[in-house]
Amino acid sequence: MDPFVYNGLPARVIFGVGSLEHLSREIGLLGASRALVLSTPQQRDQAEALAAQLGSRAAGVFAEAVMHVPVETARRARDYAAAVGADCAIAIGGGSTTGLGKAIALETALPILAIPTTYAGSEMTPIYGLTEGGLKRTGRDLSVLPKTVIYDPALTTSLPPALSLTSGINAIAHAAEGLYAQDANPVVSLMAEEGIRALGQGLPQVMRKPDDLEARANCLYGAWLCGAVLGSVGMSLHHKLCHTLGGTFNLPHAETHTIVLPHVLAYNRDAAPAAMRRIARALHADDAAQGVFDLAREYGAPTSLKEIGVTAENLDVALDLALKNPYWNPRPVERAPLRALLEAAFEGRRPM
Ligand code: NAD
Repeated sequence: MDPFVYNGLPARVIFGVGSLEHLSREIGLLGASRALVLSTPQQRDQAEALAAQLGSRAAGVFAEAVMHVPVETARRARDYAAAVGADCAIAIGGGSTTGLGKAIALETALPILAIPTTYAGSEMTPIYGLTEGGLKRTGRDLSVLPKTVIYDPALTTSLPPALSLTSGINAIAHAAEGLYAQDANPVVSLMAEEGIRALGQGLPQVMRKPDDLEARANCLYGAWLCGAVLGSVGMSLHHKLCHTLGGTFNLPHAETHTIVLPHVLAYNRDAAPAAMRRIARALHADDAAQGVFDLAREYGAPTSLKEIGVTAENLDVALDLALKNPYWNPRPVERAPLRALLEAAFEGRRPM
């Protein structure tokens, strides 16, 4: 066995259908008694119901989370937390809401309790992002890692099937890149393969029956593991491309991951054969890239960049940006093959 370094991240996880009922206990275990509840405007009702459930342990609701955490929103949320005397924040929602919680924690050290309702996995990472003047900067800081995570599959049955599928493939992308990361290690790789397996099993069931709690539990369990992989090891070409494309052309996050992943796996296929075998095995497919592509296509996810608003002219812009400060990747990132990758993703061709 090759030598390796394993960096475990602290996390207390409460998992299971109905686990939301332990919220009050968990706030107490954080040594807190006045929780600010965060959500997007779309999930305000859920946030308010949570605050009502908490009674005097709720300090207020801030339902203004949006994608990519604008600094102005983060500032308003921090001011509101101070004004209502909050001593912890609860983020109920997807990566956007968790991201707002992280932005608060970054400057106030307020403990965050996350209640994920998508499969994005942000709750398991110390990675934060903030957008100012149209530019998103990201960083790593342990203070933003949620102290407690409550995974209640019952909260995910309302996630529309289309978003469930792309969000699940977003999670698979974390694990796939973790398997061939420069700092990959056998323990994180176990989580990665198991995460992909759980999502590969759960997503088709969710697409057939969105309120199937067992299928939802499988997906949320997979998302947890894939998020933990993202939090533990480095990311490569896929994440670089998605950040570049998403940030430059304001593309939907999970869909962009879904479209790009098969093509990056095809690009890296020969440079990371062991990782590809594990991804394929987890998906019961012959080939990793085709397995991900077929999962997306069979259940109606977008498979081409042109479907989500990218134009042919955008490809050269994306290419230049992706070649600037590239992340480490198992196969060198070079202009001509990267251009071919982007064209295949633009057209939505099944990777050969
Ligand atoms: P999101 O949080 O933006 O949610 C998308 C929409 O779905 C929102 O309107 C939300 O309110 C709604 N929604 C969420 N759960 C729902 C449910 N159960 N039922 C009904 N509606 C629901 O989307 P996302 O894909 O979870 O997160 C994307 C963001 O997270 C991006 O900004 C991305 O950069 C960030 N992210 C960060 C990390 C990290 O480690 N820092 C990891 C993954 C994603």
